[in-house]
Amino acid sequence: MIDLFAIPAERLQGVGSSKAGELHALGISTVGDLIEYYPFRYEDYRLRPLSEAKDGEKITVQGTVASAPSLQRYGKKSRLTVRVTVDGLLLTAVWFNRAFLKEQMEIGRDITLTGKWEQRRRQITVAESEFPDRGAGKTGTLQPVYSIGGSITQAWIRKTIDRALTQYGAMIPELLPAQLVDRHGLMPRREAILRIHRPENTREGEEARRRMVYEELFLFQMKLQAYRAANRKQEGLAHTIRSEDIRSFVGSLPFELTESQKQVVNEIIYDMKRPYVMNRLLQGDVGAGKTVVAAVALYATVRDGNQGALMVPTEILAEQHARSLSKLFEAHGIQVGLLTGSLTERKKRDVAASLQMGLIDIVVGTHALIQEDIFFRRLGLVVTDEQHRFGVNQRSILRRKGMNPDVLTMTATPIPRTLAITVFGDLDVSTLRERPKGRKPIKTYWVKHDMMDRVLGFIRREAAAGRQTFFICPLIEESEKLDVQNAIDLHAQLRQALPDLSIGLLHGRMTPAEKEEAMGAFAAGDSHVLVSTTVIEVGVDVPNATLMIVMDAERFGLSQLHQLRGRVGRGEHQSYCILIADPKSENGQERMKAMTETDDGFEIARRDLELRGPGDFFGTKQSGMPEFRLANLLNDFEVLEAARDDAAELTAKEDFWSSPAYAPLRDHLLREARLQGEPLD
Ligand code: ADP
Ligand code: MG
Repeated sequence: MIDLFAIPAERLQGVGSSKAGELHALGISTVGDLIEYYPFRYEDYRLRPLSEAKDGEKITVQGTVASAPSLQRYGKKSRLTVRVTVDGLLLTAVWFNRAFLKEQMEIGRDITLTGKWEQRRRQITVAESEFPDRGAGKTGTLQPVYSIGGSITQAWIRKTIDRALTQYGAMIPELLPAQLVDRHGLMPRREAILRIHRPENTREGEEARRRMVYEELFLFQMKLQAYRAANRKQEGLAHTIRSEDIRSFVGSLPFELTESQKQVVNEIIYDMKRPYVMNRLLQGDVGAGKTVVAAVALYATVRDGNQGALMVPTEILAEQHARSLSKLFEAHGIQVGLLTGSLTERKKRDVAASLQMGLIDIVVGTHALIQEDIFFRRLGLVVTDEQHRFGVNQRSILRRKGMNPDVLTMTATPIPRTLAITVFGDLDVSTLRERPKGRKPIKTYWVKHDMMDRVLGFIRREAAAGRQTFFICPLIEESEKLDVQNAIDLHAQLRQALPDLSIGLLHGRMTPAEKEEAMGAFAAGDSHVLVSTTVIEVGVDVPNATLMIVMDAERFGLSQLHQLRGRVGRGEHQSYCILIADPKSENGQERMKAMTETDDGFEIARRDLELRGPGDFFGTKQSGMPEFRLANLLNDFEVLEAARDDAAELTAKEDFWSSPAYAPLRDHLLREARLQGEPLD
């Protein structure tokens, strides 16, 4: 079998070294790349009856020249007008700057016109025209449109891809196992690739696309699952965990676990007991109670004689978790340590030494935890909170420090199931579906800036009832400095407007000690209002806070707003969220509407995905969100699920790594793995 990816594009006629360089810039260096360079849409040149065309639409029609042409010139520009009969109707065809066509307009000659149809004036502004007596052209076809650059034109790349397909098309291998092609009624691969470049009709183009989308998602799932299978088999710590221990620890908690929490704890404990590395994602809406689930798992690893680590994205969160875990574990004689970048060198050395000697059972920290000079005596479990803040790399560095510790990853950005499959296909997923009992839904309002007086009245009312308020400053994406200035200004204004309330301030430019003091005072109920930048966005837990106000809310993304709102509604009191937003802001309206309509994080995530598209959903590159050439996760959900199941079935087969039936697929996967440097088997 000839490998089309081993044949340089220069082998094709018409591809010299300069064109090859420009192809290279498009990511094309071989014939294989070229053949798999798919069009992103088609230009429609199919003939249609004029009666079906709507006003202003682009159409292609066939007719007969019915009058002598008339040409007007204005300097270098020109306008050519000809009467044409189409479907028995006399219409006017207009060309701009095509004076040379005048000579070819003989009355009675057949002509096809492609252009914009103006019903009222019975006129077509012609973009392209052809004379059928000159032989077949574009008329009647769907022409592929490729993404191009440099001096490469659509015509050139069409011709070049055509050549590649004519010369090498017969060598396009089938990758999918025959049973899957049959199961889904897919076009053979060779035909699909030919048709995706040259569809006879829309249905054929769609069928070709369907085949290639399935293939793309299937191959992606194969890689994920082969990786996952390898991970599964990775030997790890088999925790010894006694149910009585867990039961008595859970019994010592200040509340009863929800059914959802119990189930998730069971899933995690089950994984921890197995002699393989746990790689589990715990997802749950804000306020669902993930921390206590992590606490149970950490307790379990410590009872088995290991250490646990909890890694979080911010120092504020690290301090909060360290405080609450210390309280939980105090009575059980478990030592909790805190390790963040802002500790003094001396303190850091102390903590590091205690970790290495095993004097600290559980360490909570920021990415300082993964620095090279931190060692554990016996690391059994790593929990990362709000994981989307961590890069894949950081997780694996931390993992390497232990003897393949179990890993629990928690996220408060609920991920739609399908996305979870895609992005975290190498993880097992647990979901907290319910919030603790007695929580009232957060009432959310959307107000304009001129309602500030009423907003202040709201703050006073909550303060009088003994409750507290978060006031979030507008987010200035480009400038942390402006963010901070906003917070300082807003703080000053509020102190003036609310002289009898105590108002705290929190922002990213404060020293760690100042931050801790501000956060501590608020958590202890000493300040009524905390003015803050988004540093409190994730994780912060102050159950007595019942009012969340977000200034210039239209600057925030939907998931971020939901995160912010999740800082309230964490206790038994009715909570509120007030979004102060410009009603005219672009698509801000839809976000505000979504926020007032639902406080279900999964629904919010779904709408966020719709508004922003999957690429933007996680905001950052580190999300590991794959990019697909043809598949679109919003539309191709079902195909993704089918592909996942098929891949699971196939990787579970005994003979997958040996049978010749799967050789092309195996070769392909191995080649890709080599290219990308991923571990595969
Ligand atoms: P998140 O899932 O957002 O991290 P937390 O773990 O911070 O949520 O929990 C939110 C709040 O709910 C905390 O104050 C926590 O103590 C409380 N909580 C957690 N589980 C329960 C429960 N089963 N019953 C009552 N309160 C709970
Ligand atoms: Mg949390």
